[in-house]
Amino acid sequence: MKILVLNSGSSSLKFQLFDMTCHKVLYSGLIEQVRDHQQAIKTMVEKLSGQGHIRQLADLDAIGHRVVHGGECFKQPTLINQQTIEAIEQLIPLAPLHNPANLLGIKMARQYAPDIPQVAVFDTSFHAGLPDYACIYGLPYELYNKHHIRRYGFHGTSHHYVSKKAARFLQDYHNLEHPRLISLHLGNGASAAAIDNGQSIDTSMGMTPLEGLLMGSRSGDLDPAILFYLARETGADIQTLDDLLNKQSGLKGICAQNDMRLIIKQAEQGDKLSKLAIKIFCYRIKKYIGAYTAALNGADAIIFTGGIGENSAVIREQVCKNMNSLGIKLDKHKNQQASDNILELQSQTSKVKILVIKTNEELEIATQTYTAIRDPQ
Ligand code: ADP
Repeated sequence: MKILVLNSGSSSLKFQLFDMTCHKVLYSGLIEQVRDHQQAIKTMVEKLSGQGHIRQLADLDAIGHRVVHGGECFKQPTLINQQTIEAIEQLIPLAPLHNPANLLGIKMARQYAPDIPQVAVFDTSFHAGLPDYACIYGLPYELYNKHHIRRYGFHGTSHHYVSKKAARFLQDYHNLEHPRLISLHLGNGASAAAIDNGQSIDTSMGMTPLEGLLMGSRSGDLDPAILFYLARETGADIQTLDDLLNKQSGLKGICAQNDMRLIIKQAEQGDKLSKLAIKIFCYRIKKYIGAYTAALNGADAIIFTGGIGENSAVIREQVCKNMNSLGIKLDKHKNQQASDNILELQSQTSKVKILVIKTNEELEIATQTYTAIRDPQ
């Protein structure tokens, strides 16, 4: 059972070929500077056939496509047909950068392999069941009806994957069922999710991936009136403000660097703004842990994932510092360990478990694709 996972971006095509009988990655590739998606798919097929995995796309059992925005239509992985494509097209205004690139990948793959099942797996669908009080903004309600303005949340595939792994682990090793989890996906993009018994009940990203935690170059939460102020004071137009908040802010805006490894290095060498950027990054995460502990009426475990969450002991330590009143106590020695498996970092007296779980969005997309073609809805 060979399933190809495609992540078609505006300037890159990422792909992984899985053998789902043994959950093994057969091939993993990245084609950058993609201007022509048709050429990119051809190059990908050449690479896969060069390795003897397939001769043509039609030899695959299925293709799973990552799609960023599923709006309110897509609550689960969905078999792709003309109707699915049209519905994803209708969602372009909600994700003008991502959905068109995802769609190009889908259309090309269907052109080359029209007869194999293809499945769209959405970044938003894990959060599709958020309660209304968590996803409706304090705006006139008609804006929700008319313009679909609400919290959708993203990184769903990652939060879903690590939360399932955490739940299995907590059941097997701690006899804990129906856990209340706070999942922290900390990479270039960063988000938190509150997960109650397998269901996402709140998440920090909003209608777009701009809200919430401080990120590599995105501001995360801020007072929206800052935008009106800037527009009035500087004459900045919408595109300039969009660029400012999405591309020039966050860690990069504060210390001119968005790579956390380098920021930590600069901070160790005494750079004040790098130190400040790390403090703001960790403090924002801490506040969300507090909020989600309240939303969940107590947390059983916190999960660190994403490039920063999985690899940075320094950041995990700062996030968990002075949280003992919430029952969160990190064991500094355990925090220095590294493993490809699940790590447990809490001290013996910590009420809340602190887990590090390596995310694997591609495997989750392959698994969901497999399930969707096996049990079509
Ligand atoms: P993306 O969101 O693009 O998938 P990743 O999840 O790969 O990104 O995370 C990238 C971030 O992880 C970068 O800021 C990088 O510096 C950071 N990172 C990776 N390894 C470490 C490490 N050992 N210490 C601190 N940060 C790290």
